Amino acid sequence: MKAMAYVSEQDSLEGIILPADLKKLMNIHIDDPLEVYVDEEILILKKCVARCVLCECTGDIIEYKGRNVCTDCIEKLKSRV
Ligand SMILES: [Zn+2]
Repeated sequence: MKAMAYVSEQDSLEGIILPADLKKLMNIHIDDPLEVYVDEEILILKKCVARCVLCECTGDIIEYKGRNVCTDCIEKLKSRV
């Protein structure tokens, strides 16, 4: 993990403000979902990327009934029918 010298404050709405430079560096836009991980005193924010529920890949994702499935898994499932 690369340490970065960004300091942020909590806002009055009990959120965390990410500096504009950091958002630009990480290509994070307003309303982009972020995954939050906590490990004792370490807080990790991770860009939320759509992943296939079956193989965990991030390419060619299609949402079906609220779940993300990749086109490769869809083709594999079709071949089993
Ligand atoms: Zn898949």
